[in-house]
Amino acid sequence: HRHVDRATPEAVLAAAEAGETRPLIPDCESLDAYLAGGGYVQLRALREGATTRDDIQGLVAESGLRGLGGAGFPAARKWGFVRAEPGPRMLAVNGDEGEPGTFKDRVFLETRPHLILEGMLIAGHVVEAETCVIYLRDEYPAAREILIREIAALEAAGLVPPGHIDLRRGAGAYICGEESAMLESIEGKRGLPRHRPPFVAQSGIHGRPTLVHNIETLKWVARICHEGPEILSGVERNGRRGLRNFSVSGRVRNPGVHCLPAGSTITDLIAAAGGMLPGHVFKAYQPGGPSSGLLPASDADVPLDFDCLQDRGSFIGSAAVVVLSDQDSARGAALNMLRFFADESCGQCTPCRVGCAKAVSLMQEPRWDRDLLEDLCQVMEDASICGLGQAAPNPIRLAMKHFPDETVR
Ligand code: SF4
Repeated sequence: HRHVDRATPEAVLAAAEAGETRPLIPDCESLDAYLAGGGYVQLRALREGATTRDDIQGLVAESGLRGLGGAGFPAARKWGFVRAEPGPRMLAVNGDEGEPGTFKDRVFLETRPHLILEGMLIAGHVVEAETCVIYLRDEYPAAREILIREIAALEAAGLVPPGHIDLRRGAGAYICGEESAMLESIEGKRGLPRHRPPFVAQSGIHGRPTLVHNIETLKWVARICHEGPEILSGVERNGRRGLRNFSVSGRVRNPGVHCLPAGSTITDLIAAAGGMLPGHVFKAYQPGGPSSGLLPASDADVPLDFDCLQDRGSFIGSAAVVVLSDQDSARGAALNMLRFFADESCGQCTPCRVGCAKAVSLMQEPRWDRDLLEDLCQVMEDASICGLGQAAPNPIRLAMKHFPDETVR
């Protein structure tokens, strides 16, 4: 197989013309380049005792870092919970990035893989994880090849013992991005979310206390260790602290990953993405994946941070922002979201398995039955096992509330 060093448009075209079927590997930062820039110094200091586990946990607490896979749980507190459990312990990296509209983790993996690997190894050292398991979605073949190559480089350099990092492939199931389903999948079982308690910090992979982190969270762990907690705590906007990588797509000039203060609004994000496409007027946006539904342009003043969107019936989740214009149908977008949930429901519990399919059929009617849909939403929210079924009503409720002309009247 032939590999092309840089996935430039020209290289992609040339490879396609040559019948290339293997992934093109982006020209990411190598181990040598990362080491030359001071990489792994913090990990070495920790291992050699120059800094302690408590020091690092304290830095992360001071930064205010929260889990960026969607739940937003304070990272240092999670470390504390895992450390309080008896060993042996495990670390699992959630690289299953399956939320429609989310692509930030792929960008990080394909540009600065060692920042993530060092963050993972630091977090793993703090909680004394025996093994670090990386669960990577199968749709990221280039990221997988990069990780295989760079993990081998780390092992060859003596920076990690062989086998300490265990790279696993997902198999295309959205639900395996839910942390407990991911652990089931890592164990070789069907990816079904678990009931809590026990929480994964108490009983994760094979019953061991397990620290689960998203890729972006680990990236920030490494940066906090290298650059200090002020890198997050020193940034303030609209009363919120920290930085956030938003995956921005839809009707904007420059879709992509945009790093902005965590207190940014959709107006800030659209500006950072170069403004609306010519001829398009901002109408609505998905703030954080389909589970967050759609908010109208009139809700453009709210900071897109954790805890800020609840009173709007939404949340920021993994910051997968999709911008819709006057040329898009809010009704169609909401229906599309429910179709996605119906496809991806693991089928374990009835409110979600039957509810998502029933919602899709009701939303295909010319006019939505508000009372019936609201009844259905309430049952799904109250009685589903995991976040997929619990949050699936959001797109329905928000479409009925903000876009009644397209849905219920
Ligand atoms: Fe599975 Fe849906 Fe129940 Fe979650 S809510 S466990 S995805 S059926």
